[in-house]
Amino acid sequence: MSSRPTPSAPTPAPRADHLGLVMRGVHLRHGNDAEIVQALDDVDLTVAPGELAAIVGPSGAGKSSLLAVAGGLARPDQGTVTVAGQDMTVPSRRTRTELRRRHVGFVFQSGNLLPALTAADQLRLPLRLGGRRERSGRDPLEMLAHVGMADKADRRPHQLSGGERQRVGIARALVTGPSVLLVDEPTAALDRARSHDIVRLLAQEARQRSVAVVMVTHDHDVLDYCDTIYEMVDGKLAVRD
Ligand code: ADP
Repeated sequence: MSSRPTPSAPTPAPRADHLGLVMRGVHLRHGNDAEIVQALDDVDLTVAPGELAAIVGPSGAGKSSLLAVAGGLARPDQGTVTVAGQDMTVPSRRTRTELRRRHVGFVFQSGNLLPALTAADQLRLPLRLGGRRERSGRDPLEMLAHVGMADKADRRPHQLSGGERQRVGIARALVTGPSVLLVDEPTAALDRARSHDIVRLLAQEARQRSVAVVMVTHDHDVLDYCDTIYEMVDGKLAVRD
């Protein structure tokens, strides 16, 4: 009896979602035996390149914990987290820091800019820290121009409005060419019009640069710009209907 040759398994096509953020079965507990808080309870989340995902939920729901785990700042007790296919849960803090510098950008509530630095220098700093300029090919001044801040590159944070500071914060997070952008309450300090501008900018950058963006927000007014909306309650994440 002749046996047929076994067909070789087809090479699986790379899945676009692996290039963004993938969290599977993630648990994170805070505290000690006396009082344990389940900050993340079996969280699954996939954010593909080019997607802007919003997470809403009450204070204490676990939103900051999710961003910390996604960016490798905290290690989950259980589950897997990958950014651009890289394991963000490795025990070595140094390796996680390196992965974060290479693949993740953070945007904070009010820009979190360094008071003494000009807008251009805010962008030069992460490039110097990561030695990424040659590889990412992004020029700080071009990046500032891209977010509408070309004429204010020499200004320091106190010479900028809240919305302008947030634009610089976004440009700084993008200048290293991250795969994933983690954004914490970007409109908390802004009026309605500026809030729309900033979230529109995030949606546009996500698409143009194929970055997976996760934005934690209380601002229901800006959810129309988001591709997916998740709700977080007591550490559990679910897609909002
Ligand atoms: P959110 O960002 O939605 O407000 P957090 O992720 O900050 O929620 O917190 C989730 C839960 O974990 C809350 O009950 C909070 O009190 C608790 N928590 C957060 N950080 C710590 C910590 N370092 N030690 C103990 N409990 C914590």
